[in-house]
Amino acid sequence: MERESASTHATQAGAAATAIPVTVIPGDGVGPEIVRSAQRIIEAAGVPIAWEQAEAGAEVFRRGDTSGVPHETRESIERTRVVLKGPLETPVGFGEKSANVTLRKLFETYANVRPARELPGVPTRYSGEGVDMIVVRENVEDLYAGIEHMETPDVAQGLKIITRKGSEKVIRYAFELARREGRTKVTCATKANIMKLTEGMFKRVFEEMAPEYPEIQAEHLIIDNVAHQMVKNPVQFDVIVTTNLNGDIISDLASGLVGGLGFASSGNYGDGVAIFEAVHGSAPKYAGKDVINPTALILSSVMMLRYLDQAAAADAIEQAVLVTLEEGRAVTQDLARQTGGDVEHAASTTAFTDQVIANLGRQPSSVPVSVRVTDSGLVRRPEWTYGPERYAGIGRELVGMDVMVESDLAPDALGDELTALAGEALALSMLESRGTKVYPSTGLATDHVRWYRGRFVARDGRALAEADLVGLLGRIGEHHRWTEALRLQSFDGEPGYTKAQGE
Ligand code: NAP
Repeated sequence: MERESASTHATQAGAAATAIPVTVIPGDGVGPEIVRSAQRIIEAAGVPIAWEQAEAGAEVFRRGDTSGVPHETRESIERTRVVLKGPLETPVGFGEKSANVTLRKLFETYANVRPARELPGVPTRYSGEGVDMIVVRENVEDLYAGIEHMETPDVAQGLKIITRKGSEKVIRYAFELARREGRTKVTCATKANIMKLTEGMFKRVFEEMAPEYPEIQAEHLIIDNVAHQMVKNPVQFDVIVTTNLNGDIISDLASGLVGGLGFASSGNYGDGVAIFEAVHGSAPKYAGKDVINPTALILSSVMMLRYLDQAAAADAIEQAVLVTLEEGRAVTQDLARQTGGDVEHAASTTAFTDQVIANLGRQPSSVPVSVRVTDSGLVRRPEWTYGPERYAGIGRELVGMDVMVESDLAPDALGDELTALAGEALALSMLESRGTKVYPSTGLATDHVRWYRGRFVARDGRALAEADLVGLLGRIGEHHRWTEALRLQSFDGEPGYTKAQGE
């Protein structure tokens, strides 16, 4: 790939004159140190950026703002649409939600892109194999919807939300990214074998969309096998697209394959907004000591520059980082520790940054894997319709109701009572506890807790009315404490609910 030197770029940038506005959030712990490092390098490469300093994280929580992201910061991001941020801490006892997740959700940055590639001078178990993959993680939905309830004092429930629209956006993003980078395979990683409706939706959308990209091999693997395969033979992976929690875990795994969190960069992309950050957190024990490895955030800022169409400067900085790692004149303590080097005399964050700046304009003699584009000018709006006309065409039928009940009764006793309360339109088909059927008894060694789900279905396939559901809840509520009710529907004849284990 042909590359310009940083000085060439600086001349171009100088001529371009207008500075690009970027919101910068130094963040917590080691955040200010690594952000400063990236800013110094970007400035040295001659990119004209107008930084808008903004706040988020621990201090904001401590001041009593329970979101961790103040109004002024939101306004700045609405203006600039691009963020370079340090890690944010979620202090225990202040506010409930992570400010990181809040930022990603408020600006609908639905694709979290985490490249993991072999770097020169960073020896790992896989050195020489050419590990070069990108994990594209859905960034908004799933268990990160953060919808949790205490159903009883001892039973917590969290809702896993997967939508067709959210799945489409991130899966399309992954295919477009693969196409743009000339990658040949996209692996969809889910737990669809167990979570047939939620993870299954993600898999189905992937399978429906794959034929639009005939030049790209599309495969589906179960997420636990992906973890296994990543450790056994990581070079088989190219782009992996997956749901939020799966992606959180396997992208850290991917970082571990290529040198650890000190090297793991990421971008959160949405429609017209992007947030760039290291994968790692605030590493509080290293805060203020000038010892942390800033590579992860520097490489995240390279992703940012590509997003801002500053490809020459992005290339120059990336090359300078690779030269610095390859030559090993400034080795940070994490890498020194991994390689059995001199940890006591390891390079400080500042010294490493100085070395990268000194190396601007140079090219590494070896690059284990080819440097690719990894940017985002590829956002495509959802192409399937989610308008009312789609839903008007889907036949739906009300077929019953699940009612969650807190009760000290044994399953048989509660089952008999609920059967008697079911009424004329509905019948109790089963009771389950913790997802496993306990009534009618299976006779097996099933344990239960004092929280049950009663499944009530239409008697003899009769049509149900709203009044049947309300009436049932009223009757149950007179005798038992019900905590939740969910309607059972079928869509075009397909049940919109799963069976209990053992049902
Ligand atoms: P962490 O801050 O990522 O640190 C865990 C360990 O990873 C460190 O102790 C260090 O390992 C290593 N590490 C992290 N960054 C490194 C770097 N740049 N160079 C070298 N090694 C690095 O994880 P944590 O301690 O679990 O989390 C601390 C806080 O950060 C929490 O409040 C968490 O919520 C927050 N967090 C924020 C983000 C974000 O803003 N996106 C992400 C994750 C966590 P050694 O101890 O082996 O040296």
